[in-house]
Amino acid sequence: MEVNYWNPDVETLDRGQLEALQLERLGNIVTQAFKTPFYQKRLSRAGIKSPANIQSLDDLRKIPFTVKDDLRQSFPKGLMAVEMDEVVRIHSSSGTTGIPTVIYYTAEDMENWTNILARSIVATGCTSKDVFQNMMSYGLFTGGLGLHYGTERVGMTVIPIGGGNTRRQIQVMKDFKTTVLHVTPSYLLHIHSKLAEYDTTIDELHLKKAFLGAEPYSENTRKKLEELYKIDAYNSYGLSEMNGPGVAFECVYKEDMHVWEDAYILEIIDPATGEVLPDGETGEVVLTNLIRSALPLMRYRTRDLAFVHPEPCKCGRTHWRLSRIQGRTDDMLIVNGVNVFPSQIEEVIMSVPEVGTNYQIHLTKAGSLDKLTVRVEIYSKMFTGELGELEALRNRIKDKLKASITINAHIELHEPGSLPVFEGKAKRVVDNREML
Ligand code: AMP
Ligand code: ZN
Repeated sequence: MEVNYWNPDVETLDRGQLEALQLERLGNIVTQAFKTPFYQKRLSRAGIKSPANIQSLDDLRKIPFTVKDDLRQSFPKGLMAVEMDEVVRIHSSSGTTGIPTVIYYTAEDMENWTNILARSIVATGCTSKDVFQNMMSYGLFTGGLGLHYGTERVGMTVIPIGGGNTRRQIQVMKDFKTTVLHVTPSYLLHIHSKLAEYDTTIDELHLKKAFLGAEPYSENTRKKLEELYKIDAYNSYGLSEMNGPGVAFECVYKEDMHVWEDAYILEIIDPATGEVLPDGETGEVVLTNLIRSALPLMRYRTRDLAFVHPEPCKCGRTHWRLSRIQGRTDDMLIVNGVNVFPSQIEEVIMSVPEVGTNYQIHLTKAGSLDKLTVRVEIYSKMFTGELGELEALRNRIKDKLKASITINAHIELHEPGSLPVFEGKAKRVVDNREML
């Protein structure tokens, strides 16, 4: 497999040197943090009087966590470490879980972010010959403009189409012979269900790759999209608090995502106790940004659950890899006392070949018990009038779910195109238990 680097020196730096670089940059970020009213208070309360108190990477653990609420409560400038006239860009988180938070960037922050995105893009094997169709929404969301600048830096031909308008997306893919997409997995599934309606077959498209991110999805969804479109799909992870996309990205080997450790320090903690977990154990992803001056965030609790694997990668990069995001600490469902993440349900249903491109999870109360209903769209060829076949399929999905998550779910089979569609981040779970 051909492996290309953007910053070969940094990407293959030996671990000792990488850690030395992290420590040096951690010093800078602590210095920067001391310029903000928020961290002055937070750090001095933790007994950290000056950046000199951080002498090793282990000392990072002396620094208290920062959480999303800290960003909200210090709105608008409590966490800003530069003057407003140095800020060249503002973004905001999508507010999937509440009030949006605001992110500031200096010109240098933008430059750094663009470079780590260029690095991520080159790691997937893209070159200046690729035509890139950016289906993420442009605007305050970091997914649109972030990848836009990164792909442009690599010299790719960028089509800044943004989200939505499926007919036009398909037409543009044909007109400009798009080779690479950036899209949420849920929207890419949906587009596939529309190809026939817009008289298009996969063979008329020129797609080779897709960067999939912004929402949790299962390995089976990746596989399904790779098969449906005959492409390689790369997992892309980031969050606006850490600039946006480009925190971690898969390389050509697609065996989980390299976390760019010269730009971010990754820790995995037990979300209940805050204790740092050993490598390989699943817990909450905590990130410290090392090269951002406008908004220096340290030990930021992402609420995303994943694990790290510290083995070298075949691509030669020394930066450790982060697993697929297994769920979020705040999206775990408790169904009659059983803990389950929506992504576990997705993993099961997407392994059933008859299942189409959309699904939804419903929770209601049946008396005092929780009732979990999974609505799945199935391919139209299944609706042959043979009720027995549909019943058998329903039971097959039900049994698979029972075997995997130990919950007796109610399965509803729906026709293609009947469930709600999302052009950005999908909202798969409808929980009506509180309302009854
Ligand atoms: P935002 O700050 O609005 O960009 O949202 C960031 C959040 O989106 C992350 O904290 C994750 O919960 C989710 N996210 C982004 N990329 C991925 C991915 N590749 N897999 C799973 N979840 C993701
Ligand atoms: Zn690799």
